[in-house]
Amino acid sequence: MEHSYDLVVVGAGTAGIPCAAEAALGGARVLLVEKDHQIGGTLHISGGHMAAAGTRRQAERGIADSVEAHLTDIRRISAGTARDDLVRITAENAAETVDWLDDRGFRFASETPRIIYGHEPYATARTYYGVDEAVSILEVFERLLDEAVATGRLDLWKNSPVIGLTPGEDGGVGGVTVLRGGAEDVEVRARHVVLATGGFAADPELFLELEGAPLVSAAHPTSTGDGIHLARELGAAVAGTGSFLPTFGGLPHPTSPGRANWSDRQLLIAAERPPVEIYVDKHGRRWVAEDELSIDDKERALTRIDDMTFWTVFDDAMVESTRSGRPLVVGWTPEDLRARADQRTGVHSAGTLEELAAKAGIDPAGLVATAARYNEAVAAGEDTDFGRTHLPLPLARPPFYAIRNHAISLVTFAGLDIDSDFRVRRTDGSSMRNLYAIGEVIGAAATCGQSFCSGMLVTPAITFGRLLGRRLAAG
Ligand SMILES: Cc1cc2nc3c(=O)[nH]c(=O)nc-3n(C[C@H](O)[C@H](O)[C@H](O)COP(=O)(O)OP(=O)(O)OC[C@H]3O[C@@H](n4cnc5c(N)ncnc54)[C@H](O)[C@@H]3O)c2cc1C
Repeated sequence: MEHSYDLVVVGAGTAGIPCAAEAALGGARVLLVEKDHQIGGTLHISGGHMAAAGTRRQAERGIADSVEAHLTDIRRISAGTARDDLVRITAENAAETVDWLDDRGFRFASETPRIIYGHEPYATARTYYGVDEAVSILEVFERLLDEAVATGRLDLWKNSPVIGLTPGEDGGVGGVTVLRGGAEDVEVRARHVVLATGGFAADPELFLELEGAPLVSAAHPTSTGDGIHLARELGAAVAGTGSFLPTFGGLPHPTSPGRANWSDRQLLIAAERPPVEIYVDKHGRRWVAEDELSIDDKERALTRIDDMTFWTVFDDAMVESTRSGRPLVVGWTPEDLRARADQRTGVHSAGTLEELAAKAGIDPAGLVATAARYNEAVAAGEDTDFGRTHLPLPLARPPFYAIRNHAISLVTFAGLDIDSDFRVRRTDGSSMRNLYAIGEVIGAAATCGQSFCSGMLVTPAITFGRLLGRRLAAG
């Protein structure tokens, strides 16, 4: 049986679903191919934060904002390292994306739009997310897909990885090879192919090659860089290498080495929880002012320490002091923390600092010396080593605790090079006629540069998906 479509979209996730649905609703015959048993990709675990200036929701709340103000913020946060053309397309169309979700029944978290401090903050409240984070986006997408399937113009194949791109005429692509149902190879012809396969922060080998850093992953397991492998076979170029930046701190996963558990993470953003603890490297040395407000500065400092690994060290009085405020670990009460010490991977406690260091894998002499010097700083009310100003308690009351944290990766910065029409570019800079890439497969560096800009992955993924789907349906 011959399979032929106007458009094949590879990957039913954040970017792929809106692209395929808009194209089918616009009149195109579309195949949406998904390797997983379910649709949604990273939407199952993402925070789903989106950023948009000029939405109805902002207007209703009296928040003055503009596309130019959003662009100014992104240029400031990324120090001008993002792709200006792609950032502008996102910013100019983001409000329409958010209003469209609103029209389709998106369940906004009531506090949004707001300023988010998990990344360098924008100057204006323009970040939105759902009551169930990105799952709220998926809810809208499921209804949208049903609508598109009901037109009879959209086929969805699950459990069906695309394993090859077929070269076509004029240096373009002729279609795809799909391992349909994981069982049989099927050739599908297509006028256009869109790669929306996500990033590669779940593939340590590709991560080392393109990001050049050790991987502790909190990405969705399907993020294995398939689109990059597929397009490189046809001579596609990769952009954004050298932009790697980790997310600041994550507890080791309790059972899977090399992974971090994003839901169990320490609250390390000083604007959200002024730190009681100190951070030390494996030599027991402090390496940053723990109360530094710029999360970007902390993320960059983390890339400079051994193994990008550190321990938060605190005593029992510090644990107790968090009882009335925000917790040391998301969702953990002081009792949870005490109970999980020496039970959970990377969480240690001991009666003395020497014992604690030996258990955790920190140099004991280094930690003891650091604690003594820190306690002097607390007594003097001045930290001459790092300039920390929040010095509430000395490290004095046993038991002492240490929690291991890694630089973790939720996303990848390198990705397929594309032009402003989302066409994949070859290594000589020329664009492939009918092969497109959207979503994280183009790399976070395209829209965030070497930084994290709130919402600047989910927003472009959905926005580019909708724009491209509509354009391909029309042409
Ligand atoms: C924990 C976490 C929190 C995050 N929070 C935010 C946030 O708040 N805001 C923000 O902007 N960004 C955030 N991000 C990043 C953002 O969520 C992702 O960059 C974005 O969702 C990726 O969308 P995508 O469409 O490119 O990939 P995905 O949504 O992952 O979709 C890709 C799909 O392609 C499928 N696929 C892959 N290979 C093949 C193949 N060979 N054949 C067929 N199908 C294939 C996959 O199975 C998957 O379903 C977060 C990421 C993580 C991990």
